[in-house]
Amino acid sequence: MNGTHGIRRVGVCGAGTMGAGIAQVCAVAGFPVVLYDAFPEVLPKAVARIEQDTERQVQRGRLRAEERARGLAYLSTTSDLGSLSGCDLIVEAAPEDLALKQDLFGKLAATAPEAILATNTSSLSVAEIASTTPRPERVAGLHFFNPAPVMALVEVVRGPQTSPEVVDRLVAFTQALGKTPIVAQDSPGFVVNRVNRPFYSEGLRLVGEGLADCATVDRAAREAGGFRMGPFELMDLVGVDVGYAVSRSFHQAFFGEARFRPHPLQRQMVLSGRLGRKTGRGFYDYQQPPPEPPALPTPHPHPGPYGVAGATPFAAELAARLRQGGFEVVELAEPPDGPLSVAAVFEAEVEDRNRKRAFLVALDRHLGEDAVLLAACTNASAAECASWTRRPGRVAGYVTLPPLADRRLLEWTSHEAAQADPTPYLAALGLPLLRIGDAPGGVFPRILAAVVNEAAFAVAEGVASPQDVDLAMRLGVNHPYGPFEWAERVGVRAVAGVLEGLRDYYGEERYRTAPRLKRACWLGRWPEP
Ligand code: NAD
Repeated sequence: MNGTHGIRRVGVCGAGTMGAGIAQVCAVAGFPVVLYDAFPEVLPKAVARIEQDTERQVQRGRLRAEERARGLAYLSTTSDLGSLSGCDLIVEAAPEDLALKQDLFGKLAATAPEAILATNTSSLSVAEIASTTPRPERVAGLHFFNPAPVMALVEVVRGPQTSPEVVDRLVAFTQALGKTPIVAQDSPGFVVNRVNRPFYSEGLRLVGEGLADCATVDRAAREAGGFRMGPFELMDLVGVDVGYAVSRSFHQAFFGEARFRPHPLQRQMVLSGRLGRKTGRGFYDYQQPPPEPPALPTPHPHPGPYGVAGATPFAAELAARLRQGGFEVVELAEPPDGPLSVAAVFEAEVEDRNRKRAFLVALDRHLGEDAVLLAACTNASAAECASWTRRPGRVAGYVTLPPLADRRLLEWTSHEAAQADPTPYLAALGLPLLRIGDAPGGVFPRILAAVVNEAAFAVAEGVASPQDVDLAMRLGVNHPYGPFEWAERVGVRAVAGVLEGLRDYYGEERYRTAPRLKRACWLGRWPEP
C-alpha cells in the first residue's frame, strides 16, 4: 500500500507536546509541514524543541545530519489558519476539549475542503469531532503516542462515516512515516488506552484492599510479569490527575460499566495534590532518594520429595522444573486414593475449580501429618482452598502462571488459619519469594487475566483485529507480548481460571469472563473476528 496515500503537504494544528512531535516526524520523513498554533508565541518554542530533539538524534546516530537539515527545511510555522489551505492532510493536536476541536474542525473543513482531517485525540469520539464538518467521510483519527518521534505505533481510527479510502490512505501515509499503523474503530480509548485500563485498575484494587503495597505490586508486575514498569510507577509518570480523568471518562463513556469504575484512591491522591513526579510526590515520594528494594527471601529448599497434582500442562512443567532442581517428584494426574508419602504437594489445577477442589480434598485425606499443601491460588484464594480440607493449618498458596521460565519471582500467599511455614517448600521452584495478600490471582496473574479479558471484549465489539490488538499493546505500551499471544503462551484456560476465581471471590460483574474468551476455552480456538 506504500506510496498510494497521495499526500504531499501536511498541516499540523496545535504546536504543543504532540503537535511538535508529529510535525517533526512528518518533516524528517520528507513531507513539507506547516505547523499552526492559535498562540503565535508557542511556535518558536516548538521549533526549538524540534531542533534540539533532532540534534540529539544525530548525536546518537539515529538520524543523519543531512536528513535533519532537510527535515528542518521542510518545516514552516504559522498562526494563520488560512495557511493550511494547501495541505492534503491536516493532523489536529489541539487541547483535549470537544467544543474546541469541533469549532476547529468546522474552520479547517472550510479552509481546506479537499484535505483529510485527522484528530490526535486520545479519548474523544471521532464522530463527534467530525459532526461540525460537511464531509465527515474525510475525517478520521490519527493517534500518535508520546513521544511521537520515538513511539512506533499509530492508531488509525475509523469513524462511523470515515470512508475506506481515507483509512487506506492514512495507513499508507503512516507507513511512509516509518511508523506501524493499526486500524481501530471509533470507540472510547481505541485499542491501547482501553485494553491497558486493567493494568492500572487492578493494581489500584490490590492496594486499595490492602493485599499489597504499591512497591510490591510494581515489583510483581515487573519481575513476575515482565512489564517494563509497574502500574504505580507509570501512574506517577503520566500524572495521577491525568489517569484519574481518563478513568472517569471511560466509566462515563461505557455508561458505568463495572470494569471501568475509577478507584477512590485516585480521587484521594488528586485531592491531596499527590499527582506524581511532577509534584514531587505521588504513590512514591520523589523528594527522597528511592529506597533500596528489599532483598527477597530465597530460603534453603526442603529436600522433598514433592508431589505435583493436576492434569494441566502447568503441572507437567512444575514437575519437570522440580526434577531439574534435583528433587524427587511424584506426579498425580488424578486425585490420590491411597496414602501419599511426600513432604509437600504443589496442587496445580489452575484451569478447573471443581477438579481443584477434588484434588485438595483427596490430598488432605491421604497426606501424612507433617506434609504441606501448596495450592495454586490463581483461581481460588488460599483461605478457600484451606476451607476444603480438614487441616486448613497446613495449606498455603503460590500464585503464578506458566511458563515459569518467564518469571523472576514467585508470588505466594497464606491465610488466617495457617500454621506451617511454606517458604522452604516453595523455594524448591528456585525463584525468590514475594508474599502478597490472599485473593485469587495474586498480582501478575490478576493483571494479565483482566487485560486479556478486556482485549477479548474489545475484539468482539469490532474495535480491532486480534493481530492489531497484539501489535498495538507491544508497540504502544511495551507489553512483552500482545494479550492474545500472551494468553496462548500461558494457556487460555489458565487465564480464564483467574477470572473465574475473582468472579467467585468478589461476586462482581467486573470479573465476568468475556464470551470470546469462554469460547476459546471451550473449543480450543479463538472465534473468527
Ligand atoms: P498541549 O497542551 O501540549 O498542546 C496543545 C497545543 O494546542 C498548545 O500549543 C496550544 O497553544 C494549542 N492550541 C490551543 N487552542 C488551539 C486552537 N484553538 N487551535 C490550534 N491550537 C490550539 O497538548 P498535547 O499533550 O500535545 O495534546 C494534544 C492532543 O493530543 C490532545 O487531544 C491529547 O489528548 C492528544 N494526545 C496527547 C498525548 C500526550 O501524551 N500528551 C498522547 C496522545 C494524544
